[in-house]
Amino acid sequence: MPLTIDPYSAVNWETFHQYKASLHGHTDESDGTKTPAQMIDAWIAAGYDIVAITDHDHVTWPWTDFDRDPEELGLLAIQGQEMSNVEAHRHHTASLFNSWVGTTGYTLETAYAAIQAVNGVAVMAHPGNRYARGWVDDPYPPSFYANFFSTYSCLLGFDICVRDGLFIVTDLWDALLEQLMPSRPVWGFGMDDSHELTSIGFTYVVVLSDELSTAKIKSALQAGQHYVCYDHDASVLTPPPIITEISVNTTKIEITATNYAEIRWISNGKIIELGESLSIVENTKLKKYVRAEIEGENGIIYTNPWGFDSVHHAPRPRPIDIPSANPTMR
Ligand SMILES: [Zn+2]
Ligand SMILES: [Zn+2]
Repeated sequence: MPLTIDPYSAVNWETFHQYKASLHGHTDESDGTKTPAQMIDAWIAAGYDIVAITDHDHVTWPWTDFDRDPEELGLLAIQGQEMSNVEAHRHHTASLFNSWVGTTGYTLETAYAAIQAVNGVAVMAHPGNRYARGWVDDPYPPSFYANFFSTYSCLLGFDICVRDGLFIVTDLWDALLEQLMPSRPVWGFGMDDSHELTSIGFTYVVVLSDELSTAKIKSALQAGQHYVCYDHDASVLTPPPIITEISVNTTKIEITATNYAEIRWISNGKIIELGESLSIVENTKLKKYVRAEIEGENGIIYTNPWGFDSVHHAPRPRPIDIPSANPTMR
């Protein structure tokens, strides 16, 4: 099937940097336990290059108000907040690259429209949380989420992995990809949702870019030019898998990585292949998308999905051989 979406097509694996990003975390400006300065210092110590402080309905910005200058620290700070006072369905959302804050009682619809109007980016936070915690009897159906993705282009994806593996919703991700790919990709994100120093460094996003600038990182996230890593023990001594290269051509996708034991290729929620390479010509189980999970002893990586044109063209009838006056005409 023809490959129509490749989130990593613009990546030069030799020259691009792999930036470690925390796109969701709290300080005592909302319900976190530490000051912005304390949290920022801890993120730097844990090796982060990109950090968004997402306090609840509060934009903790600029960092210089809290005695930390991202430029001096060599860090990319992203302005944002966590939309939390959402009426009705109450799904939280990380709002990034903008300063919009909703007043009490906004809906997801009005919030996404507002974020879109200011050219911001939205990542639905911890979907499944309310079900996993027993606050609602049934999980929201995939169609509930699909509707938002079909309507709002600012909504890039959602957290497929949360904190130290608290819950992982790849089943919901697969259901949405099955429904929406390849026309509307849903990118995977992950976050610590840190409220204290001890919860930093477990689940993060690795952004692939040649430059650590707001514009480049924003467009990389929009293009899905990133992957999610769940590091089991958040320790540099026992590193999780790292992707060193992904090569794609018309016949296969191949992943080179370190610190892993298994690579699984998943399409329509099922494992369709194991190993470094997937044939996109011969694998009959391949549907509208495929994504890879790279699992090692110390952690797991989730790549973003590749999309395939699912339209099967009927074989063309053989052209009738009409003698032509012009022998060079085809
Ligand atoms: Zn939340
Ligand atoms: Zn949060």
